[in-house]
This record gives sequence, C-alpha cells and structure tokens, in this order.
Amino acid sequence: MTDSNVIRGVKIPTRCLGLPRLSNGMPIPKFASWKNGVADLTTMNAEYARHAMQFKTCWICGQKLGRHCAFVGGPKSAHAGVYSDFPMHRECAEFAVQVCPFIVYGSNYRKNPTLNTDDMARMVDNDNPVIFCVSVASRYRYEPSAGVFVIHPDEQLWFLHGKPATPEQIADAKNKAQAEIESQKT
Ligand SMILES: [Zn+2]
Repeated sequence: MTDSNVIRGVKIPTRCLGLPRLSNGMPIPKFASWKNGVADLTTMNAEYARHAMQFKTCWICGQKLGRHCAFVGGPKSAHAGVYSDFPMHRECAEFAVQVCPFIVYGSNYRKNPTLNTDDMARMVDNDNPVIFCVSVASRYRYEPSAGVFVIHPDEQLWFLHGKPATPEQIADAKNKAQAEIESQKT
C-alpha cells in the first residue's frame, strides 16, 4: 500500500496537505501559476507573490509565516545572503529541497521573471545550482529594486540531489560561489 502523504520517502508537512496535487501526488506549491486549470511550476504566480508579500505567507503552503523563515537558493545566494525566492516555513523548505524535481534532479528549466541585472540580483544563482542551501533567518528585508530578499541567516542546511550534502560538497560549493562573486566585482 502506498501512503499518499509521502513523496519520495519524505512525509508531506501537515501545512501542505491542503494543497492541490499533481497526478503523481506531489503537492502543488502556492508559487505555481495556473493556466486553464493546469499548474505550471516553472513560472511564478505574480498574483500570489503580491499576496505573500502583503500578508507574509509561505511560498509553498500559503499559510502565515512565523518569526523564523527559510529561504531556498544556490551557493551564491547562501554566500551573499541574497535570495530571489520568497520566504517559507522551515518545514516547507526542507520538504521542497528533498522532493522538488528542479532541486533533486538539477535539470528542470525554471523561469525567473523577478530578476534583473543590477548588482544585487547578480548575487543570485540564475542557472540551476544543483546544490541548494536552506537559510533559516529571523531577520530579512525585501529589496524592491533588485527583486530580492536580503537575509542574515541563523542557520544553513545544504542539500545535493535531495539529500543532505557532505562537508566536502558544501566547502566546494562555497568556494565556487565566492570565486564567482569575486569575479563579478571586477
Ligand atoms: Zn509553509
């Protein structure tokens, strides 16, 4: 018997149980856009983004955020403390990094309409970074000109292909991110 509340061996957070599902059982996050009743997880829902910003709701489950939020991004985001994706509950973020195909397989194409080319936006990983970092923060602010969140992480959790990354993988990702950011400064 399969448990419909488990995806890839990971339990769906209680907060996400009320979300609509894809045919494979995957909860459809609030950030997805909809066209003719079909969810598109590669395009951000601009209407929901405005809602999330105004009411401080989670990017995944849509429920109210608490004091601590989690941000998901690549090594450059983790290094610079600059994230393009909206804040989420920690449990929603940890679920997403273990099951989201974009994160687990590192290949899905995703459109990111919020990014522009100013200095701060260039701190964000545009291509799929393959290794992802969940930064947990109680302090953050939104930078409207760049369309990014600037955060001061209290804790960082790293995932590679949906599993916790090793210290070597994390060190490698951090070194590459730092080198890339340094090279952009010139
Ligand atoms: Zn949530």
